[in-house]
Amino acid sequence: MASQAFNGNTESNSKPNILTAHNCQQREEEVKKIFMDIVHADKCVDESCPLEKCLKCKKVLEHVRQCKKQQEFQCPICKRFVRILHFHAKPCAVEFCAVPFCHEFREIIAKKNEEALIQEFGNLSVKDFI
Ligand SMILES: [Zn+2]
Ligand SMILES: [Zn+2]
Ligand SMILES: [Zn+2]
Repeated sequence: MASQAFNGNTESNSKPNILTAHNCQQREEEVKKIFMDIVHADKCVDESCPLEKCLKCKKVLEHVRQCKKQQEFQCPICKRFVRILHFHAKPCAVEFCAVPFCHEFREIIAKKNEEALIQEFGNLSVKDFI
């Protein structure tokens, strides 16, 4: 019984991902980061919170809450928020999701198709937000 301890694998460099897969993954990471900030801001009551994006997210959330009642996400600020929310809410299946508006937006998605959403809210892109 000859056990071969041959290990020819000296490649330790991580290879770059396939571009498309990488872009998709990168977007997922960006979305995750943004929504970590949003969930934080939603719960944060610290007026001098050191998190740079906290205040910005708080302002956006405050606006969207007030605006939504009158305009159903139809102003430019809300539309921008909805674009980014789309990336979270579409695949989200968490029953009691902590992300603000996730449930509401999932209901909107359920009623509309992607094309109708893009027509209403513009081309969906993460880069427009924050
Ligand atoms: Zn905060
Ligand atoms: Zn608005
Ligand atoms: Zn969610």
